[in-house]
Amino acid sequence: MGIDLGTCNTLVCVRGEGIVLNEPSVVAVRKGTNKVLRMPDGSYAVGWAAKEMLGKTPGSISAIRPLKDGVISDFEITEALLKYFIGKVQGRHTFLHPRVVIAVPSGITAVEKRAVIDSAEHAGARRVFLVEEPMAAAIGANLPVNEATASMIVDIGGGTTEVAILSLADIAQCESVRTAGDDFDEAIINHMKKAYNLMIGEQTAERIKIEIGSAAPVGEEQTMEVRGRDMISGLPRKTLVTSEEIRSALQEPLSAITETVTRTLERAEPELAADLVDNGITLAGGGALLRGIDKVIADATGLDVRQAEDPLTCVARGTAIYLEHLEEWKHTMESDNNGS
Ligand code: ADP
Ligand code: MG
Repeated sequence: MGIDLGTCNTLVCVRGEGIVLNEPSVVAVRKGTNKVLRMPDGSYAVGWAAKEMLGKTPGSISAIRPLKDGVISDFEITEALLKYFIGKVQGRHTFLHPRVVIAVPSGITAVEKRAVIDSAEHAGARRVFLVEEPMAAAIGANLPVNEATASMIVDIGGGTTEVAILSLADIAQCESVRTAGDDFDEAIINHMKKAYNLMIGEQTAERIKIEIGSAAPVGEEQTMEVRGRDMISGLPRKTLVTSEEIRSALQEPLSAITETVTRTLERAEPELAADLVDNGITLAGGGALLRGIDKVIADATGLDVRQAEDPLTCVARGTAIYLEHLEEWKHTMESDNNGS
């Protein structure tokens, strides 16, 4: 099975079956401990069950996203996450000790990589291979990564944006920035505070982004009714927001992303840069779904920008393809040759 261990969402893709699991990368624990909570039916509070608790947790419980910043903040909780997901997929399938490919953020350290491998082994994997997320995204987007031509992928996730130029089955240039979908939500939260004295939660902010958010003007402007808590009276209240004001609130995190893209291009070998004039840039990850973001990146770089097909599942589908063609990849890091 191939696993996309994302900062927001974890997906599992099985050859011949497609995406068999897609849940938030969230674990609910007792506050101050690493003890994963159990639901009334005895199952662990991981994934959807834990996400529902985010922002609504009673004092003694916290819902944790262990990969939120593209680094592993807590090994034990990450292990619980992997165990739960691998176990869940295995429970429904016949493979006993599967080979697992896991896509990890390109910025994680050797120690973190080792921890992911160990966790997956504890969870029952026979052999574990890691692939860097931008590579998996590019494979999932059907880019010609094995050929002697440059491909460029910009994967805008929840916690991190990974930008990479790939050629000959290798990453030639790669940058990672901790600005992505979560920062769009945060910018909306700040805007609502400043403009309306209205406190809103992360889930509400995300809904606003998805419903009326945009990076550049596209189509008709929209409005949306938003509910939250008045910062002065402390009482619940609603207000109307427009797509224009949300767009302007998103400009700051957007420019951090476009700067990372242009910086990566500036550092590329001239021959690879030349290829990109024809090959353009491909966007993956949930952030690629923000309306008009392709246009903003195209304007900043002067290159053609297209969205990968189904950007949210790109990395997971890429890991499953990678698994099928393991021997073709030179730089695979795997469990039993202690490559770290
Ligand atoms: P990760 O790989 O880091 O887990 P994902 O690729 O799953 O992240 O993307 C999650 C991010 O994409 C979240 O910030 C989410 O709000 C955002 N997202 C999902 N759908 C949309 C959409 N339609 N428009 C804008 N952002 C979206
Ligand atoms: Mg991702």
